[in-house]
Amino acid sequence: LELLGADMNEELYSTLKSKFGFNQFRHRQKQCILSTLMGNDTFVLMPTGAGKSLCYQLPAVILPGVTVVVSPLRSLIEDQKMKMKELGIGCEALTADLSAGAQEDIYSDLTSENPTIKLLYVTPEKISASGRLISVFYTLHRRGLLARFVIDEAHCVSQWGHDFRPDYTKLSTLREKFHNPPVPIIALTATATPKIVTDARDNLKMQNSKLFISSFVRDNLKYDLIPKAAKSLINVVEKMKQLYPGKSGIVYCLSRYKILQKKRQKIYLTLAFFRKECETVQMMLTKAGLSAEVYHAGLNDGLRVSVQKGWLANKFDVICATIAFGMGIDKPDVRFVIHYSLPKSIEGYYQETGRAGRDGMPSYCLMLYSYHDSIRLRRMIEEGNTTTGVRSMHLNNVLQVVAYCENVSVCRRKMLVEHFGEVYDEQSCRNSKTPCDVCERQRKNPEAIRLFDVSNDALSIMQCLPRMQKATLKYISELYRGNLIKKTSEQAVRMGHTKLPFYSKGAGMTEQDALRFVRKLVIEGLVHERLYSIPNQTAAVLAYAELTEAGKEIASGKKQAKVYLHIVT
Ligand code: ADP
Ligand code: ZN
Repeated sequence: LELLGADMNEELYSTLKSKFGFNQFRHRQKQCILSTLMGNDTFVLMPTGAGKSLCYQLPAVILPGVTVVVSPLRSLIEDQKMKMKELGIGCEALTADLSAGAQEDIYSDLTSENPTIKLLYVTPEKISASGRLISVFYTLHRRGLLARFVIDEAHCVSQWGHDFRPDYTKLSTLREKFHNPPVPIIALTATATPKIVTDARDNLKMQNSKLFISSFVRDNLKYDLIPKAAKSLINVVEKMKQLYPGKSGIVYCLSRYKILQKKRQKIYLTLAFFRKECETVQMMLTKAGLSAEVYHAGLNDGLRVSVQKGWLANKFDVICATIAFGMGIDKPDVRFVIHYSLPKSIEGYYQETGRAGRDGMPSYCLMLYSYHDSIRLRRMIEEGNTTTGVRSMHLNNVLQVVAYCENVSVCRRKMLVEHFGEVYDEQSCRNSKTPCDVCERQRKNPEAIRLFDVSNDALSIMQCLPRMQKATLKYISELYRGNLIKKTSEQAVRMGHTKLPFYSKGAGMTEQDALRFVRKLVIEGLVHERLYSIPNQTAAVLAYAELTEAGKEIASGKKQAKVYLHIVT
């Protein structure tokens, strides 16, 4: 702590230059470093690529002792270890696949008089499983050589995060075990809504930590969204080939939830199903003249590593992956990220698109949107054997993604960063070189978006809903437009649906807008779609509309609600 005198500033800059080769700190890095050097618990929230690692690596180099870094993935750990070794910083990793001998070497260094290890990476499992490791920590602590604990990817500690890991919850014991004198903790994450931050700080027993947040705005990313149709992927890929010849991209496909582990047979079917989506996309890309590899839960570890390596070495153009891919992989020149399937949450989307343009150059992020994909996601969630609370959180996440996709009026950047509690003025997107699709449309024609009050029609639909059995949103929207195909039409007449008060009220609307209208009722929480699987068909689901509790209150006149719809004219 003597170091924190007037020379500190100089020491920070000289180490930054001599050890890491950087001239300047990035936004918030220095404040985080000073905070942790002063012995504070420090919580760092920075988007991917912002430079979180330096916030603990530089203090580890400056101060005596060993810094213990808890990180969830072996690939992440290996990547960091390699970087540290290149920089000549003493760094080792205790992971499950280490040989007994290598492990002994690490332990004997840690217990030696002057440990050469400055940074020790461990997985959370190792901390909860290895009594020996904890006793080595005790010894270091007693000798004043336990510099700090780093909890990387700290959102994994929260049930509300998209990547909850039970082993992370046991990290709370670190605070209790090493409290006299307290070992400072620094927790870092790129994915945290205010709720998750609070939860993570509570779980890690670092409620008094200093919180550092850097902006989540990614100026160089262009966010776009188009409907997913048969040709849309190919068209986009053609565009990417011209715009960024020879450059890398990621296409995200649907991935299964970790919780989806019921019957053996079911797992097998689901795996086959998702493998198929990755592979279908791979085939489409290959046909379009790009080289592509797949990465999904069905590959064995060896294959996964080799795909990852090939990717880093630019051996192929595009990776068709499920979200299992990408965490911690630092490839700076990814030029496009395409979502062929819906992401599971807004955070997930931000995180996945965040892998584009880490070098700061303009990059393209496209969502290929199909409402039906949200039903597929919902089905996976509902079939998962998890607690009701977690399930409803996942379902709510999907609903937020649907709201993001159905939106035509609010800047996408604004929606994304405000999800993380940041305030954003959409004028900056509107005036930037890479405006999102919404702002671009606004810029071209400020009158293009019009707002309609559809409250009365919404009420009428909600009042009729209890009388209509097994109505899909699509059927309701067709009734609303008074535009039914022949087969449905006969049935509708027989059931008396063409006599319902809302029938053909929306005759002037396009098919798409009428659908957006009824989906709006779902997004607003007034209508719920109940899912029914069709026996013996893994992929097919039927969804029937019914009123939610909130919807019932409005239909019965107990409460009132305004429903507005933005329409692109
Ligand atoms: P994060 O963990 O926040 O995703 P990293 O710590 O992996 O980000 O850093 C992202 C990239 O930025 C790395 O290549 C790193 O070397 C680089 N970087 C970090 N800090 C600086 C800095 N002050 N100046 C220049 N480059 C930096
Ligand atoms: Zn915008």
